[in-house]
Amino acid sequence: MKILPPGSIIGILGGGQLGRMTALAAAKLGYRCHIFCPDENEPAVGVSAFHTKAAFEDERALEAFAKAVDVVTLEWENVPLRSMEIVARHCAVHPGAKVLAVAQDREQEKTFARSIGIGTADFAIVKSAEELDAAMKKFALPAILKSTRMGYDGKGQVKIAPGMKAGEAWAAMGAPVGILESFVDFACEVSVIVAAREDGANAAYPVVENRHKNGILDETHAPAQIDAAVAREAEHVARLLAEKLGVVGLLAVELFVLREADAAGQRVLMNEIAPRPHNSGHWTMDACACGQFEQLVRAVCGLPLGDTTPHSRAVMHNLIGDDVKKWPELLAQPNASLHLYGKSESRAGRKMGHVNVIKGAW
Ligand code: AMP
Repeated sequence: MKILPPGSIIGILGGGQLGRMTALAAAKLGYRCHIFCPDENEPAVGVSAFHTKAAFEDERALEAFAKAVDVVTLEWENVPLRSMEIVARHCAVHPGAKVLAVAQDREQEKTFARSIGIGTADFAIVKSAEELDAAMKKFALPAILKSTRMGYDGKGQVKIAPGMKAGEAWAAMGAPVGILESFVDFACEVSVIVAAREDGANAAYPVVENRHKNGILDETHAPAQIDAAVAREAEHVARLLAEKLGVVGLLAVELFVLREADAAGQRVLMNEIAPRPHNSGHWTMDACACGQFEQLVRAVCGLPLGDTTPHSRAVMHNLIGDDVKKWPELLAQPNASLHLYGKSESRAGRKMGHVNVIKGAW
């Protein structure tokens, strides 16, 4: 396995806050980052040594970028696969196109999970209002209709209550292909982040509980207050997915915890995966000696993985939209560590920063 020593240049596809925090962690270990994104005002650009300002479809810019860096990772999973292929001709890309192809499409995610024995909500793929209408007749309502691609933070999702018309739900979803999912009456939502190196070495952070508001992550509680057996099952599912997908870098796995075991004896169902740092892993920045961003840098550079055992319990609060105006009082709060993403404009639903509140020894 190739080891990239400190001083090397890490290319990052995408310029958002996840790229910014990766670049800060990389700088801590003496690496420099080169961000590829179309807008110089994005959060990662100002904290990185180099920036290529270009569209993800710009082949020449992608080639020049790939030749200028030592390894490439990503902070946005909707990077076009074609762009990844172009970069991969000149430079190692972690995670690779195979993982990305699965993570970009909800049908592929669920089909892959099921193929390796991991449970998911029941689902049907629908390509028109008529197909949705037919699928709705087979599903118990409520159900959820989601776009199969490009959805995040509850965007492109419609909850279908009894009595709702298929045409109405289809129009509200607004994408050419949808996935109708049975509504899971979960006890709670949890996630696990696994780091893996090219030689197969891996490490998982403990299972955490995620609470959402308006479809957007609001708080992460570490650890999740769930039975040890359920936590083991969640961790097993995450490791299995990372291993079978051949992830190098990070894989975040979001899961529903069922109130009781289903017919297959499972207590967790996979909801979705993301092959990158994840919002539900931000707590690790202040509660672990090696947070998820440093872990990503270690994994893609072939360094020894960091210890994933936290030293503290923590709660992460997202600062969405105008929440960020509370920064003076958050700075004054004991045991709180404030992280702001440097976005100039706060809009409703936009992630502006987060605060990690340390709760005492793990
Ligand atoms: P997603 O974009 O798939 O992560 O969905 C956003 C949020 O919607 C999830 O975190 C859940 O709170 C809720 N949700 C999504 N799918 C389902 C489902 N099949 N059953 C119940 N709640 C869901």
